[in-house]
Amino acid sequence: MTGPRGKEKKPFVPGLVPPTGALLDWGDGRHFDHQRDKPCVLCGTPTPMRSHADEPVHKACAEAWIAANPVEARLGRFTSDAKPQPKKTHDQGAHA
Ligand SMILES: [Zn+2]
Repeated sequence: MTGPRGKEKKPFVPGLVPPTGALLDWGDGRHFDHQRDKPCVLCGTPTPMRSHADEPVHKACAEAWIAANPVEARLGRFTSDAKPQPKKTHDQGAHA
């Protein structure tokens, strides 16, 4: 037993920085903090959204920041989710 809750927590691995003008892929539920809103580091308005580094930030603000700071953005402050190995999707409702 190592974890305080006994629940294994996978590290939140950041993925790639989206190209300028592209949107972040934040489909992972860990980007959403259900506990509370915190002031966005960019605009100051409370947000439940979190970056991979747990910075409170609106997704739209992060995207705007990437667009405004393309060089710094390459350092990976805000990135899309890391893509897992492509899984075989179940063809649901794929009836001919
Ligand atoms: Zn914001």
